[in-house]
Amino acid sequence: MLPDILSMYEDELTEFVLSIGEEKYRSKQLFKWLHTGASLEQMSNIPKKMKEKLETRCVIPSVTIENKLVSEDGTVKYLFKCFDNEFIESVFMRHEYGNTVCVSSQAGCRMGCRFCASTLHGLQRNLYASEMLSQIYEAQKDAGERVSNVVIMGMGEPFDNYDNVIRFIKLLNNENGANISCRKISLSTCGLVDGIKRFTDEGLPVTLSVSLHSPTNGQRNEIMPVNRRYPIEVLLPACRDYFEKTGRRISFEYALIDGKNNSEEDAKELANLLKSNLPGMAIHVNLIPVNPIKERDFRRGEKIMTEKFVKTFEKNGVNATVRKRLGADINASCGQLRAQKYESNGGM
Ligand code: SAH
Repeated sequence: MLPDILSMYEDELTEFVLSIGEEKYRSKQLFKWLHTGASLEQMSNIPKKMKEKLETRCVIPSVTIENKLVSEDGTVKYLFKCFDNEFIESVFMRHEYGNTVCVSSQAGCRMGCRFCASTLHGLQRNLYASEMLSQIYEAQKDAGERVSNVVIMGMGEPFDNYDNVIRFIKLLNNENGANISCRKISLSTCGLVDGIKRFTDEGLPVTLSVSLHSPTNGQRNEIMPVNRRYPIEVLLPACRDYFEKTGRRISFEYALIDGKNNSEEDAKELANLLKSNLPGMAIHVNLIPVNPIKERDFRRGEKIMTEKFVKTFEKNGVNATVRKRLGADINASCGQLRAQKYESNGGM
């Protein structure tokens, strides 16, 4: 593949611009254009001759809108097509504090969580930093509104594509680019402990979420195969270390699955597990009533079960919020739209 200029840091782009015989100041102009999601054609202050060189000497792997679903609550779900006909999903959400895009970090996923649609057809490939950025730029252009927050919680496991994800975050921070600070970025991991350890030393004040989904190894093994490699007694000390070294608290994701992990005993066990392993850290758990996917028979419990779960939690001194369901009417849960596309194409 030719050099991917949308994934380049500013100094790398300067080197590239010089290597094609253009002047240094062109690099800043080009960087700014690239990070609005502009096409070469739209770059009005770049000379035609330079554009001709760019056309043959590099690539801009942007994504394009293949399909789009708009929810009654204003949430937009995109199915994006990559340059090689892979499909990925992103979600645009409106909140009081601004617009958020949920980006995918991989096409498919190999983590195998039983309740998740992204993993149904395995991992196709990692996404480039450019393709992660492009999801935001395309959503921004389509909505005609700026994106202020980013969550890396779409398809894929970000720590399974570590280097590209870090590059993506650093490019998002760039003041000549999207200029979104780390504090407005969240990253969710299924618990790849090697990734959590590397991330601890990275020094990026991104909000980290860990998908826990169960307080016991037996149950977690069953719904999240990653737990066999990194069981709870390995995962939680890594979380503790992250908190102690960075001073940033971690939030936990917990999908409530009826009859599996949503009893009052589960709530009590979870609260105690987190309190005892993370002393000094304000514990916060995001409860997500599971989004049923047709390939699996996981169901969300009755509302009363969720309420009891939250109450038991609070009694045990732990904070929990039930995730507001944006876009429930448009299948806005990871991987569902792509899985439909995959099946209608007979595999991609
Ligand atoms: N791989 C990362 C990020 C992608 S998934 C991770 O595992 O954290 C983002 C969140 O959505 C995770 O907490 C994941 O467990 C959850 N999730 C996936 N499918 C779901 C479903 N069908 N119902 C509820 N939550 C789901």
